[in-house]
Parts: sequence; structure tokens; C-alpha cells
Amino acid sequence: MINFRIAFSFIFTLVATGLGICAFQAYRSTKSTGKAVSFLDASLIPPLLGNLIIIGAHTETLAKVGYYLYFLGMDLMVLALVNFTSAYCSVTGKHKTPLKQIIVLLCIDTVQMLMNPFLGHAFDVEPVDVQGSAYYSLIPYIGQSFHRIVIYTIMGATMMIFLVMTIRMPRIYKEKYLVILITMIVTTLWQTFYIFSRTPINRSMIGLGIFGLLAYYFSLFYRPLKLLDRMLSNIASDMPEAMFVFDPNFNCIWINETGLKLTQLGTKDLEKVSEKLEDIFGTIQHSNDVWEANKVIATGESKRYYTITLRSFNDSAQKLAGSFLTIRDTTEEQNKIRAELYRSNHDSLTGLYTKNCFYEQIHKTLRENESTRYYAIFIDIKDFKIINDIFSTAFGDRALIQLANGIRSFMSPRCVYGRIGGDTFGIFMPKEEFKADEVDKALSNFIVKDGQVEYHIFVHMGVYELSNEDSDVPMMFDRAHLAISTISDDYNTHIAYYDKKLREQVLWNQQISASLTEAIETMQLRPYLQPIADADGNVIGAEALARWIHPEKGFMPPSSFIPVFEKNGMIVELDKHMWRCACSILQKWKDRFPVLFISVNISPKDFYFTDVVSDIMSLVKEYGISPADLRIEITETIMMTDAEEKMKLLAKFREEGFIVEMDDFGSGYSSLNLLKDMPVDVLKIDMKFLSSTDNKNRSETIVRNILRLTNELGIDSLTEGVETEVQYEKLSQMGCKMFQGYYFAKPMPVEEFEKFAAKGAKR
Ligand code: C2E
Ligand code: CA
Ligand code: CA
Repeated sequence: MINFRIAFSFIFTLVATGLGICAFQAYRSTKSTGKAVSFLDASLIPPLLGNLIIIGAHTETLAKVGYYLYFLGMDLMVLALVNFTSAYCSVTGKHKTPLKQIIVLLCIDTVQMLMNPFLGHAFDVEPVDVQGSAYYSLIPYIGQSFHRIVIYTIMGATMMIFLVMTIRMPRIYKEKYLVILITMIVTTLWQTFYIFSRTPINRSMIGLGIFGLLAYYFSLFYRPLKLLDRMLSNIASDMPEAMFVFDPNFNCIWINETGLKLTQLGTKDLEKVSEKLEDIFGTIQHSNDVWEANKVIATGESKRYYTITLRSFNDSAQKLAGSFLTIRDTTEEQNKIRAELYRSNHDSLTGLYTKNCFYEQIHKTLRENESTRYYAIFIDIKDFKIINDIFSTAFGDRALIQLANGIRSFMSPRCVYGRIGGDTFGIFMPKEEFKADEVDKALSNFIVKDGQVEYHIFVHMGVYELSNEDSDVPMMFDRAHLAISTISDDYNTHIAYYDKKLREQVLWNQQISASLTEAIETMQLRPYLQPIADADGNVIGAEALARWIHPEKGFMPPSSFIPVFEKNGMIVELDKHMWRCACSILQKWKDRFPVLFISVNISPKDFYFTDVVSDIMSLVKEYGISPADLRIEITETIMMTDAEEKMKLLAKFREEGFIVEMDDFGSGYSSLNLLKDMPVDVLKIDMKFLSSTDNKNRSETIVRNILRLTNELGIDSLTEGVETEVQYEKLSQMGCKMFQGYYFAKPMPVEEFEKFAAKGAKR
């Protein structure tokens, strides 16, 4: 027969050891309930030890020690249980545990128990026979009943909490509370049974121990796995990605909603999945690791993009256990990326390639078609800024769009074209496709229409033929652009080619730019003076015009170098030199020709690069001449930028006593309107601008009107380019005050002019 004492001693020891280990592990756990579990499990050890002692006790005293350990241990255990319950059920806030009251209650119970040796009110023991030897059974008194009431009340309360939690919690978590609740109920009933049946050896201790172990497991390790599985599977089902799970033989064993939609199969057609997938996406590779591929599926007009990923997984023995396939529809992302790319590569106004993209496409074309001969063509709208100013930017935009569409309509698939800048476009085309005549015709009739407004826009094209070695794309277009400069003032020619002459021109430009400083220092660059006469034909002054007497090239007119320097900004150096020369001449003339003035030219670029007013002021001071003797010639083009600022500068000149002359009136976009606000003293009207336009009568009318206007505005007038006596007389009659032109004299060296002036110089 089994020896119960030994058997239960063994079981109790085992359970106590288990609890000890759990308490230790729980203590080290990082989980929030760790400490509470540790305390609970540790607190279960004293009652177990107490019972172990009771089982093994051979004397009454030892048995009593066991009982004390048991009862006081139970008080501690109940405290730990309360602590554990509030941690496990996360009891916070309003429903705070009445911990203080519980502790007081347990303290009272502990004290009254400890009084038992003196009062004998709680319990006593008596030996009963168990399997032939004495077992000290309990005789409870009132104190013991009090102890039981305390323990049961608190345990009952905790069970209530677990009951509420079980009812209230979502299904997925219920079992976590239910298990604890059931264990508690079973243990309590078992305990009660033990108390009332008065059976020796308190077996319900095992229940208590199991409760401790379960608390440990459910607090620290339990995850509602089944429900978790279901939940994950639900999530996977609703995923926007199509998902498939395959067994090692690549038979589909699971497929989510999206997968079903994608393959247009039902849940019962799982065996058809592999075949169907291959039909749609082609071969899917079953490698051992991860396989990924991007596929494009065209359905009618539209394309759809997919990213396919296959992951294989092995079991613990490294044998293939199955694979998991996801198919993600990336169409929207791809479309977004494509749209973004399109936006960054295409000009938003015209829809043509942007400069960078255009150049890149050319590189590509060149790589792919090595043997083709190409033209790089630069297209520029003449005076686009003026179009914008006179009409509106909306009209300007209209012009750009129309030009872009025009370009597009001429292009074959072998051509590349794009917008290089604001009003400039580029074309890259095989040489044989360029039909100069057709293009020229199209450009001659380029009329922009926007509602009522209609305007003939002038477009220039520069053409550069690539040589075999050419690979620098920006350079090709620089050269094509350069070609335009040869026709930029020509309203009859639309197309210019970069050729040998132009190349030489570029070289020449570089040469003269490099030698400008020297030319100034050695006076190769010097002023020629062209007389200016009054209505009676008397010389009253001169205009200083630059001439370059080149050591190799000889006499050079300003048209061969002024435009070059105006373009590269070196005109400032030249003009400063001319101003200084003029001042020096005026200083020399102080006694000889005190009434003569000299007009100097100021290029619009000068205003960019230097403080013109203070430069000229300091020269006048340096040479001690009167500002009234140095006249300032500016052109109306300076008003094209920062008009207000320029007005201030002109006003400043006049304040300082200079006479300001508006040069070349009638050449640009003269605005008579502007004239009345312009702080100028003299208007220079150039005959060549007038005579070049159609008939004589009309130019006469224009001059007559301008002269009348200047009279009204109190501005003096000077006509330049007067070549004949007839012109001179007519202009005199019309009321012009001053004259300049070959009719009187051509520009001449200073000494010659001095002689000319000394003669009195009436023609
Ligand atoms: P501009 O200031 O309008 O100078 C008048 C130009 O008309 C001069 O040409 C002069 O020789 C020319 N001319 C004078 N009378 C007649 C005539 O009866 N018939 C014809 N057909 N032409 C006549 P030039 O000296 O060749 O100068 C050309 C332009 O170069 C000037 O036009 C001016 O814009 C510029 N330029 C000349 N010297 C300078 C300078 O020192 N600085 C700057 N910034 N520009 C200058
Ligand atoms: Ca001038
Ligand atoms: Ca002029």
C-alpha cells in the first residue's frame, strides 16, 4: 500500500520547488506582472512547507509549528494574491484595491494567531492514526474560524474580480481569466472539502500550488494562439496583396481574398492556382530562398504592374516545408512615379522636353546612331520680351505653345526636340530630314493669334552640323545659337548656319577681346569726332565715335568690335576710355573752342557694370571741365529693364548739369508715351531708321510729328544721318534745331576736326 505521508511529502516538495523556480524566474522577467507573480509564487511556499512539517511531525510541538507556518503563510499568500490580482487584471483608477484595509485585517489575523500559544483560542492539535503512526490533526476554535473568514472573504473578492473580467473581456482574452478563475474555485472547494471532512493531510495544497504555476504561465507566457491565428488569417485575407501558401509540391493550400480576385478562382479551385498563376505571370521560380520579380501585364490599352515575391520556408530539419507567394499590384505607384518623371522631364507649358532631358535624349540618340549625320538647331523668338511687354505674358505663352506645336508637327520619330530656355527651343535631327525651304516658309508666316490679337512673330534658327567627334551637346547648341547672332537684326533671313566664317568670327572676337586693354593703353582705340551743326550750319559740337586703328588689320569701324564688347560686357572698359578721351579733349579746348560740346555714348550694359553717374562726375572733376560741355547719349533700350531706376539716374545727370540726349529715337520700341516722362534734353532722330521703312511721305510725316511733339515737350531735337541738302532744308523747315551727318562731315580724327571747326565750318 502507498505510504501517503511519503507520497505527499514528495509531491509537496516537488510543488514547492517548482514554485521556487517560478518565483525566481518571474522576478527576473521584464513583464509588468513579473514581480507580482514572483511574490505570489514565493508566498505559496510557506503554507506548503507548513503542511510538509505537519505531515512529517512526530511531536505535537513540531506539528503546531507546521500549523503556524501554514496559517501565517496563508495570510501572506492572500496578500500576494490581492497584489497579483490587481496586476493581472490591471485594476487601476476608480477601482483601486483597498490594500490598506486588507493589510490591517491580515495583521489583526496574524496577531491573534500568534496569541494562540498563550490564549489557546485559535486551535489545538490531536494525534490521529494514519497508516499506523500519529498524524496531528487540527482542532479549530474561534480564532481559527476568524482566520478562515478573513482568508475566504479576500479570496472570494478576488474571484469576483476574475469573474467580472471573464465576462467583460473580449473573447480572445477571456480564457486567460477563466483559467485562473476555475483554478481558484476548484482549489477553494477542495480546501473547503478538506476543512469540513477533516481528512488528514491537506491535499488541497496541491491545488494551491497548481494555481501558482498557472498564474506564472498565464501571466508571463500565455498568448491566445488559436485566436491569434484566426486574427492573423483574417488580416491576411483582407490584405491588398494577393497571398498564396503552397506545400512543398507547390500545390496551393491557402489563398486570400485578393488572391482569389486576381486569379478569378474560387476557394474550391485551389489545385488550379499554380497553373493559373503561370498563365498570367509566366514561370514562377521555386528557389530555396527568396525570389522576386516585377511583371507588366497589358490588358487592352492599360498596363498593370506587379511585384511578385516567393519565400520558401524550411522545417526544423531544414527540409522544404512550403512557400509563401505575395503578388503586389504596384500600378498606382508606378503610374505616380511615371507621372512624376514626366513632369520633371517635360516643360509644363509646352509639353516638350526640358533642357536637361532634351540633352540626355540627344546623348542617347548619338550613342544609338553613330553613323547618322545630325543637325543641332537652335530656335529663338526675336524680341520675345517686347512681345510679353506690349501684349501680355498670356499672349507670350500662347506664342510659345504655338511655336512648340509648330515644331512638333515638323518632326519625325528620328528627331529629338525640347525647350532649352524661356523663348528658345532646340531640335536635333538627321541632316537629310532638314528641309530648309519648308522651314523658312513656315517661319515667314508665323502668326500668333489670341482672341482678337494677331501678331507676326519673328523666329530665328541657328543650325550647327555635327562633326564626327562632337559629343558636347551644350556646345553644339551654343554654336547653333551663335549662328543666329549673324542674322539677329535681319528681318528677312530666318535660318543661319554655323560655318567656317562664323568660327573665324568667334576666334576673332576672342582675339580682340584679349587685346582690348592693350588697344586702350596704346591709343589704338581712339575717338573720331563727327561735327554737329545748328540750323545755320555752324559747328556747335561733336559726337565722339570709337575707332580702332589696328596694327595688323588697320582701320576698324565700331561695327566690327562694339557688338562683341557689348555682348561680353567689355564695352564698359571701352566707354570709360572714350569718356576720358572726350574729357581730355574738352580740357584742351577750354581756350580754343570754349563753346563746343562733345557727346559720348553710353551703352545700356554700362549701367549693369558700373556706376555711370559717379564715374563721369569724377572724370569731369578730374579734368576741370563743365558738365554742360559733355553730353550724355543713351538709347531707349536702357528703359527695357528697371525703367524707374534709370529715370532716376538720368534725372541725376541733369541735376549735375549734364545734357542728356536720347539716341537713335525711332529704332526700337519707342514709346512716345514714355518720352513725356523721360528726363532728357535732346532727342536724336536717326534718319536711317526712318528711310529704311517704306515710303518717303510716311517717314516725313513721322519726323514732322516727332519734331512737333518735342517742341511741345520743350525738348531739343537733333537729326542724325543727314546726307543731303534736301534733307537738311526740309528738316530745318520742320523746326529741327541740330544736325549731324555726312552732309556736313564724316567722323574724323581729332586734329582734323579741330581744323574743320577752326574754319568756321559752314558747309
Ligand atoms: P550712333 O551712336 O548712332 O552713331 C552714329 C553713327 O552713324 C556713326 O556710325 C556715324 O558714323 C554714322 N553716321 C553719321 N552720319 C551719317 C550719315 O549721314 N549717314 C550714315 N549712313 N551714317 C552716318 P559709327 O561711328 O560706325 O558708330 C556706329 C555705332 O556704334 C554708333 O551709333 C554707336 O551706337 C556705336 N558706337 C560708336 N562709338 C561708340 C562708343 O564709343 N561707345 C559706345 N557705347 N558705342 C559706340
Ligand atoms: Ca550715338
Ligand atoms: Ca545715333
